Amino acid sequence: MLKRPDVKLESMEITFLGTSTSTPTKLRGHPAIHVKFLNHNLLWDCGEGAQRQMILAGISPFRVSQVYITHEHGDHLLGLGGLIQTQGFLGRKEPLTVFGPRGIKKYVDFFANWKYSFRDFKIEVREIKEGAVYEDQDYTITAFKTDHLNCPALGYVFEEKVEVNLDKAKLKRMGLEGNPLCKELKERGKVQWKGRTFYLKDLSKPVRKGLKIVYTGDSVSCEEIEKAAKSADILICEATFAEDMKEKAREYGHMTAKEAARIAKRAGVDRLILTHISPRYEEDPKIIEKEAREIFRNSDVASDFMRIEI
Ligand SMILES: [Zn+2]
Ligand SMILES: [Zn+2]
Repeated sequence: MLKRPDVKLESMEITFLGTSTSTPTKLRGHPAIHVKFLNHNLLWDCGEGAQRQMILAGISPFRVSQVYITHEHGDHLLGLGGLIQTQGFLGRKEPLTVFGPRGIKKYVDFFANWKYSFRDFKIEVREIKEGAVYEDQDYTITAFKTDHLNCPALGYVFEEKVEVNLDKAKLKRMGLEGNPLCKELKERGKVQWKGRTFYLKDLSKPVRKGLKIVYTGDSVSCEEIEKAAKSADILICEATFAEDMKEKAREYGHMTAKEAARIAKRAGVDRLILTHISPRYEEDPKIIEKEAREIFRNSDVASDFMRIEI
């Protein structure tokens, strides 16, 4: 459990639904991570069996409103059809949005056009590239490019939006102090004054640092991940292999635990969670953890149903 003294309510729960690779094992399902933040329910990847794992973890598949797919390898999206059907059976009305890299639309459209899915809600598919992907009043999601064989692949950054206070010194410098426009600035994020546009982000400071959680999906070690993970509270990084399989890791487009740990260290994250663990470590996943901890101490290997509350 990660507790931050500056975060008052337990606002976020991250539940690992599947932590294996291309084939599920007795102990690990296909990749899927459920993120609950306030009343938002997100899925990061949706491997086969994700909905069953959710039920076992006490999470309702009905509530998931956004699915972020990292790439089109089966282990990351084979659970989508089942999830959609169950949401239909349970009477969902609100739309479900599926985000993913180029190519995802063709896959999701099969389910969107599926005549017998007993569905009465809309499925929106957004094929995305790196950059800003989603924003509402509570959080933003940004995608970044990863490097995984010849497959278009993305990782995702969740950033909490926090309340801001106007910076009085800056307002004074701009001559805006005490101006009734300040209220509008706070509400609308920008104001026009004397022919200029003033932005809230330039004239305010956050009450505290917002939570930042980063998920890589599958990838070799690359600079983009390090950049995206800068100062994150949690980096959820693939670590398919231990160091003795370094060559194979590269060949298959994956990382070793040590490579993941080096990224965490360079990016200055608070905590590293390793997932996408090869079945060869079924008996002893601690090998992965031990190797990562030699480089970055605050590393843990995820297991199915592991939950982090923040
Ligand atoms: Zn995978
Ligand atoms: Zn893959």
